[in-house]
Amino acid sequence: MLSAATSTPSAFAPSANVARLQESATLAVAARARELRAEGRPVIDLAAGEPDFDTPPFIRAAAAAAVEQGATRYTATEGIPALRRAIADEANRRSRATAIAPEEVLVSTGSKQALFNACFALFGPGDEVLVPVPGWVSYFEMIMLARADAVSVMGDPSHGLKVTADDLARRATPRTRGVILNSPTNPTGAVYSADELRAILELADARGWWVIADEIYRRVAYPSPAPSVLDVLESRERLVLVDGVAKAFAMTGWRLGWSVAPRAVTATMAALQSHVTSNAAAVSQHAALAALTRPEESDAAVGAMVSAFAERRDVAVRLLDQGGVRYVRPDGAFYLYLDVAHAAPGAEDAGAVIARRLLDEHLVAVVPGSAFGTPQWIRVSYAASLDQVRAGVERIIATVA
Ligand code: PMP
Ligand code: GLU
Repeated sequence: MLSAATSTPSAFAPSANVARLQESATLAVAARARELRAEGRPVIDLAAGEPDFDTPPFIRAAAAAAVEQGATRYTATEGIPALRRAIADEANRRSRATAIAPEEVLVSTGSKQALFNACFALFGPGDEVLVPVPGWVSYFEMIMLARADAVSVMGDPSHGLKVTADDLARRATPRTRGVILNSPTNPTGAVYSADELRAILELADARGWWVIADEIYRRVAYPSPAPSVLDVLESRERLVLVDGVAKAFAMTGWRLGWSVAPRAVTATMAALQSHVTSNAAAVSQHAALAALTRPEESDAAVGAMVSAFAERRDVAVRLLDQGGVRYVRPDGAFYLYLDVAHAAPGAEDAGAVIARRLLDEHLVAVVPGSAFGTPQWIRVSYAASLDQVRAGVERIIATVA
């Protein structure tokens, strides 16, 4: 008989599925900041892409009550009926397109899983998917895992690094199958206007592309929620709308998101999910149900958090203006995107050089722009206390200005 040692002669080699996969850079930097803090180093964490607030008490209480009442078992893969209905109702209150049925809603383990379901169900070998750059790190990897090709479409620095319909049209080929939209945008905080969305959606419609609209930051916008594709779209035939409770309700750890898509797409994504994770955690579904069906308490809680983000943004932006740092005007999410090319002249990845310098020498954690396809920039999250934001941004200015 072979011994274990002889039967496994070589070291682990990742399969072709994951050979090119990179760890999430955003999560990696956030983990490093947490480690340093655990070692007692007073790191100012402006890397984390999550609200620093606790989940509102009425949501926590609803979740605790649900557990007491037995929400401890599997649910339908697609989610509990009441939550699917609440998601459809909320979307229908804003939608110009045909009414959304609960059967078109799939509840997932975070909007991240909803996005993965969509990429995996819609795209495959030979397909190209347009991704506005800078764009959130996981889109590129999800498209790659679906064995499709992500095609980066660079945003215009004079236009908040947003892309236009013309930019997308220029990068399209006969292989283009879809486009990913994300407004408010991670990492820039830029918000697409209704007109900008309309122009892009018209192009996608004319070309027969799928649109995946990631609106996870929609309610985190100043002064009011950002325009949604539902505000402008007449037909949802080729739309997968993705949203969740993580950012607006400070519920990142509950892992609860969803997609709204035509029935056939939803059924396929549900079948995929049924083999991978099954239902999102039952307790989290009940927590989300409270968030979506108790509008007075929700509006008050979200409003208070968004006001706090707005105040921090204003303070940070004022400091950056005084410091002469170039950045994208942020109208939503809780990120600032700073151009640091001049601070590391000649460096191919100035963002990484500066991010390392900030962490090692000034104990400020930020995310290098290479994670989002633009290496000359850094992302600064202001989902931290006002004092931390002020102190962190002052150190950043001292380093890059
Ligand atoms: N989309 C974007 C743009 C994000 O920044 C994030 C942050 N994690 C997600 C989706 C995923 O969020 P979650 O899975 O926590 O709902
Ligand atoms: N989306 C957040 C970020 O960009 C959380 C981390 C992640 O899931 O990527 O930092």
